[in-house]
Amino acid sequence: MQASQAIQGLNGGGADGWELFYRARRLVEDGVPVTELTIGEHDIGTDASILEAMDRSARGGHTGYAVVPGVTELRDAVAARVAARTGVPTTRDNVLITAGGQAGLFASHFATCDPGDTALYIDPYYATYPGTLRAAGARAVAVAARAEDGFQPREADLKQAATAHNPRTLLINTPNNPTGGVYSDQTLDGIARVCVGHDLWLISDEVYDTQVWQGRHASPRALPGMADRTLVIGSMSKSHAMTGSRIGWIVGPETMINHLITLAIHTTYGVAGYIQDAALFALSQGQSLEAQVADPFRRRRALAVNILAGQNVVRALPPSGAMYLMLDIRATGLSGVAFAETLLERHQIAVMPGESFGAAAAGHLRVAMTVEDARFAAALEKIVEFASERATGTAATG
Ligand code: PMP
Repeated sequence: MQASQAIQGLNGGGADGWELFYRARRLVEDGVPVTELTIGEHDIGTDASILEAMDRSARGGHTGYAVVPGVTELRDAVAARVAARTGVPTTRDNVLITAGGQAGLFASHFATCDPGDTALYIDPYYATYPGTLRAAGARAVAVAARAEDGFQPREADLKQAATAHNPRTLLINTPNNPTGGVYSDQTLDGIARVCVGHDLWLISDEVYDTQVWQGRHASPRALPGMADRTLVIGSMSKSHAMTGSRIGWIVGPETMINHLITLAIHTTYGVAGYIQDAALFALSQGQSLEAQVADPFRRRRALAVNILAGQNVVRALPPSGAMYLMLDIRATGLSGVAFAETLLERHQIAVMPGESFGAAAAGHLRVAMTVEDARFAAALEKIVEFASERATGTAATG
C-alpha cells in the first residue's frame, strides 16, 4: 500500500540535514564522550515547582478531556502576558492553547493557506519550517537572508519574492534559530510594510522571546496594521524548559482563533489539562522564573563573546538572542558540513553545519549553548583552535 504523495514529499525529497546529529548520538550510545552542542534543549529540567503544580493538578483530577481552546485561566494569563509585553489589547478570545509551538506553526499555515498556495519563510530557518508548510498543503518558498546583514531579511528581497510568488503568508522568527539574531525595528518595519502592501498573513514565531541578550524583543503584531494579519506562535518550551510538556499558543484575531479551535477539535482535541495547569502556575511566577531558565545561556553567551574576541579566524554574528551562536568559518576554506564532520571525528565535539538550516547559512556552524559552562567554554576554545589551524594550514595534512 502506498503512502500519500503529500506525506512522501514532506522532507523535500532529500536528506534532512541532521546526519551529523544522528552520528553524534550514535557515538554517545557507543560510550564516546561527545560534547553535544547540537539541539536546542536546556541542560536543566523543568523546575520542580512546575512539576509539583502538574502533580497537584493531575492528582486533583484534571486528567480528563480539557476544554479544546485551552483552560480559560491559562488563555487569560497568556493574553495578559502578551498585552503587557506588546501593548496590544489581547483577550482570551485571541488565544488558542496548542501542543507546543510546532503544532501552532502547522495550524497557522493550514488556517491561512489553501492547497498549493505559496508560503514564504526566511533562509536560514528552523529545521522543521519547510516540511511544516508543506504538511499544511502550501508550497514552501525560501527568501534568503544574507550573512553580511547578520541574516536580517531585506525588505527589497521580501518584496521581490512577494511579487514573484504571490504568497499568502510570510513566516519569520525572532529571536532567531539558528542565527541567534534579534530582528531590528527597521527589519520588522520592512516586514510589516511588505505584509500590508502584499496583503500577507504574518506568522511570527516568537518562541525565544525570553532569551534576548542584546537589544529588545519586539513583536511585529504591535506594528500599525499588523494585529489583524498576524498570528504569533508562543511556547513554554524555551521560556520555562518545558520542551517535553508540549505546550504553546497561537495569538491572533478572534475570527481566526475560532477557525483554529475548529481545527483543534479535528486534530489534537486540546492539550492535557494537568500540563495546562502547570503552565498557568509557571506563567504566574512572572519574569523571575523565566530569567532563571534563561540565565545559563546568558552566562555562556558572555563566555563566548570573550573567547571569540581573542581571535580573528572565526567570525561570529552578534549573539543577540536565543540559545545559539552562529559562527562564520569560511576563512578556513571548509564547508560547514566538512568542518563539523572533522570536528566530531577529531575532537568529539558535535555542532550543526549551517547548511542544515538552508543554503544561506553555508560555511557557518550553529553552536547550541546547551552544556555546562566550563565544558562549553572548552569546546568553543577547541573549535576556535581547530579553525585557526585550518585557516593557517598548520593542519593541512590532516
Ligand atoms: N520555533 C523555533 C524557532 C524553534 O527553535 C522550535 C523548537 N526548537 C520551535 C518553534 C518548536 O518548539 P516547541 O514545539 O517545542 O514549542
